[in-house]
Amino acid sequence: MAKEKIVKSNTVSNEHGASMDRIVSLCKSRGLVYPSSEIYGGLSATWDYGPLGVELKNNIQEAWWKEMVRRHDNIVGLDAAIMMHPRTWEASGHVENFSDPLVDCKKCKTRFREDHLQEKWTEKNITDGSCPECGGELTEARQFNLMFTTHMGSVVDSGSLIYLRPETAQGIFVNFKNVVDTSRVKIPFGIAQVGKAFRNEITTKNFIFRTCEFEQMEMQYFVKPGTDEEAFEEWKAKRMAWYVERLGIKPDRLRFHEHDHKELAHYAKVAFDIEYEYPFGWQELEGIHSRTDYDLKRHGEFSGKEINYLDPVDNTRFIPYVIETSAGLTRSVLVALMDAYHEEKIGIDKNGKDDIRTVLHLHPDIAPVKVAVLPLVKKDGLAELAQKLEKKLREDLATFYDQGGAIGRRYRRMDEVGTPFCVTIDYDTKEDHTVTLRFRDSMEQIRIPMEGLADRIRKEIRSYKRI
Ligand code: ATP
Repeated sequence: MAKEKIVKSNTVSNEHGASMDRIVSLCKSRGLVYPSSEIYGGLSATWDYGPLGVELKNNIQEAWWKEMVRRHDNIVGLDAAIMMHPRTWEASGHVENFSDPLVDCKKCKTRFREDHLQEKWTEKNITDGSCPECGGELTEARQFNLMFTTHMGSVVDSGSLIYLRPETAQGIFVNFKNVVDTSRVKIPFGIAQVGKAFRNEITTKNFIFRTCEFEQMEMQYFVKPGTDEEAFEEWKAKRMAWYVERLGIKPDRLRFHEHDHKELAHYAKVAFDIEYEYPFGWQELEGIHSRTDYDLKRHGEFSGKEINYLDPVDNTRFIPYVIETSAGLTRSVLVALMDAYHEEKIGIDKNGKDDIRTVLHLHPDIAPVKVAVLPLVKKDGLAELAQKLEKKLREDLATFYDQGGAIGRRYRRMDEVGTPFCVTIDYDTKEDHTVTLRFRDSMEQIRIPMEGLADRIRKEIRSYKRI
């Protein structure tokens, strides 16, 4: 596991004003993300995605799938089960190695990750190595495995013990032979999958950044040994470009971080993280790992099955090397929100104070709602006209209809959830069949014919450039 770096207060914000507190509160008030089982006081570090949050998450997942599977004719998809044969995790090394060093306070019983203690001591000016919470004596560090366990079947004994998968990758490795035998893939080729993963993390602050239940978007790319370094460089570049070009993330808030010997996982030959500059410091967003033939070899050994590849070109048999791209879907939701969040002064309000609008400059491809349809007033048939238009647009764009309140306030509500376009129906619409199209980023408004509106919006989405 990579080490946690500088973690600052939750109120620290980036130059756009995005602090964790503001993001959490916007997410709650606008139906993006709620604390899980909140009516019972919530469950630590678990979150639920609300009506707009699930749209945002699905859109990011779809953008990833489109990029990896649809745009590459040598990458296929998979959806493996969360619960797998327990030998999987012995073969992968997770039973033995997937642990964090933890220490307990003998007095207040609080548990800490040993590698996070120094930072807490520095934060609180503690020099005697005692508990950062109560000053009590700490135990020696012990290794705690991060995998959640449960039991399958009616008898609870060691024979029924299974794990909730801590990564989606192993579902891909154990299906390597199935995919090779049943589809027409030829090396180099990839298998991609999106799904839930579970880790019993004890450091779970910072909202949805690190949670015990999360989603990953992983792709394992199988190559001939000797071509792995080239493939690694190719995927490093492609994955970085995806965040900038497809998710619209600001390039100066992204960087690579190479793992040194201490950070390298037991299976890795070389590993780079794509890091994002969160308000609490630079931290991982995606890992790109060169895993050699470690996993396929181990599964071959542990299962007793022959797992290798027959090259039809030169008739040689080998165990492929693997380049893995491992992204967090839920962590990407956080990055998309943080990066898009902007507080902008747009004038002076009627009380003489700065008029600040909060806006999410989300890439339109991932925005939960693409277009809001707003009648200027409800009466005189404008509401009916707007509803008719919204129903038509709904066929191929995610829409939202809102007729309540002053038009300016309705625009602001849409800005806050990142809706890139608003269409307003007014009295002129009845006469000349034109509407006002308002752009979220520039707040520019243009008058255009209602006819061909969906095409115009789709064109705007395709040519979108973040300002
Ligand atoms: P970290 O250093 O953040 O703990 P890791 O090095 O253990 O991450 P990987 O095992 O490489 O992470 O997982 C790949 C990706 O899965 C990460 O880049 C991150 O986006 C996501 N991820 C991992 N653990 C969590 C978690 N507990 N909560 C949310 N996302 C996670």
